[in-house]
Amino acid sequence: MRLLLVEDEPRLAARLREQLMALGYAVDHAADGVDAEFMGTNVEYDLIVLDLGLPLRPGLEVLAHWRAAGLRTPVLILTARDGWQERVAGLKAGADDYLGKPFHVEELAARLQAILRRAQGDGAPQIASGDVALDEDRQAVNVAGRAPQALTGTEFRLLRCFLLHPGKVLSKSFLTEHVYDQDFDRDSNLIEVYVRRLREKIGEDRIATRRGQGYVFLARDPS
Ligand code: CA
Repeated sequence: MRLLLVEDEPRLAARLREQLMALGYAVDHAADGVDAEFMGTNVEYDLIVLDLGLPLRPGLEVLAHWRAAGLRTPVLILTARDGWQERVAGLKAGADDYLGKPFHVEELAARLQAILRRAQGDGAPQIASGDVALDEDRQAVNVAGRAPQALTGTEFRLLRCFLLHPGKVLSKSFLTEHVYDQDFDRDSNLIEVYVRRLREKIGEDRIATRRGQGYVFLARDPS
């Protein structure tokens, strides 16, 4: 899950980035409105967390530009605690949710999960495809008929990617983009290693290899 964090306050940004990465997101960071608009437009993110009070270009303007350009990525805005006008303006400009500062990271995490579920198109409490379900709180996977398996951070991000795109061929470069953050030394060969480990945990036949193209997660109906 690739997330863009837009926050100009350096200490808050560093802390949020660390906490979001611990929750399994690959996090890119922008510290002003111009960088934010550029990155949001040119990189394919799954989620954007956008502070509204930004240098160079206000967050509301950035959001309005994204939406005017047809960007549909879910956006959660960070607003001043008592900034109800800001929240209304943000929602009207196309935000999917908001959070007033200061906030607990647990609430941010819960709201991001809820946004992702809505983006996935159902109200199910977990990200799931067929009989494979992710347990986000425990960072584990449940497969019908198998004991729950704990996942490492990278395995978790990789499997979430597969579950959000069942039946679709995902290239190694797509998976690398969505599993690692911008500072990571991206070695797409590592994806093979992680796919092998996921297969051990969810079943060999769940992730098929398409030579020269990538991998495809094969959903199986719960029965
Ligand atoms: Ca700010």
